[in-house]
Amino acid sequence: MFDTLSDRLTSVLTNLRGKGRLSDADIDATAREIRIALLEADVALPVVRNFIKGVKDRAKGAEVSQALNPAQQVIKIVNEELVTILGGETRRLEYAKNPPTVIMLAGLQGSGKTTLAGKLAKWLAGQGHTPLLVACDLQRPNAVNQLQVVGERAGVPVFAPEPGNGVGDPVGVSRRSLDEARRAQHDVVIVDTAGRLGIDEEMMKQAADIRDAITPDEILFVLDAMIGQDAVNTAEAFRDGVGFSGVVLTKLDGDARGGAALSVREVTGQPIMFASSGEKLEDFDIFHPDRMANRILG
Ligand code: GDP
Repeated sequence: MFDTLSDRLTSVLTNLRGKGRLSDADIDATAREIRIALLEADVALPVVRNFIKGVKDRAKGAEVSQALNPAQQVIKIVNEELVTILGGETRRLEYAKNPPTVIMLAGLQGSGKTTLAGKLAKWLAGQGHTPLLVACDLQRPNAVNQLQVVGERAGVPVFAPEPGNGVGDPVGVSRRSLDEARRAQHDVVIVDTAGRLGIDEEMMKQAADIRDAITPDEILFVLDAMIGQDAVNTAEAFRDGVGFSGVVLTKLDGDARGGAALSVREVTGQPIMFASSGEKLEDFDIFHPDRMANRILG
């Protein structure tokens, strides 16, 4: 996903190699090129501004290091600033003291929520948990069936409304799923919710009603990294309409520019927790800001 950004940054930084000393003018010129590379990758403007300011201030104030030459020093600073905008530390799931831990998924239709539900369930099961998937996307005709298919592939049971009972009542289904989890001793519940193609008040209200019914331990906002600049607006709308405690980036295997998704942490203040990079259930991992920064810087 970040190939172009990666190539651009690498070439900007490579230009510094061999310079014995960096003047303020060298640093300004480098910062300008980094700025263009970030903007062209769709990183949000306020994020770019902070990033560039951080790099400039630190590069100009940097002590002359014995161990690193000037180019290495700038690369180190750019790397650290990237880690910072991506969230710094890896943020792991927080489990409830009294199970079940309730994880609610929210996001636009097509963002990859249902697929992610299966991935997360399989990953949790692999860690010794006993998850239950819950079908609360009752908007899209095929969504329940799709979750059942995903659940079967993940080897994780799915709680869904019986035909004729609860089909129009996602809030009731979410509430009953917690009783079922306690009864059958599932220690984690993953609730898939409905999305629309665009931001929609009714959808936000339904998600907020489900949230109020089940008081989730984590609300994960699922964000398609391919949607480009809309990513930031969508994230802000979900933050304001539902609220969330973490972000999952999906479709990182795509070839879009992806910078908008990289802005989501700084724009919303919530950490990116997981990354999804393919249609298979295994294409999923914890998001590590430092590893992503290293990947981007090549
Ligand atoms: P939902 O509407 O939010 O539940 O989204 P789905 O889980 O149905 O995903 C929408 C489409 O995106 C499906 O065709 C998925 O196979 C695909 N998809 C989901 N996650 C990824 C991913 O990480 N990479 C790619 N390439 N496709 C994905």
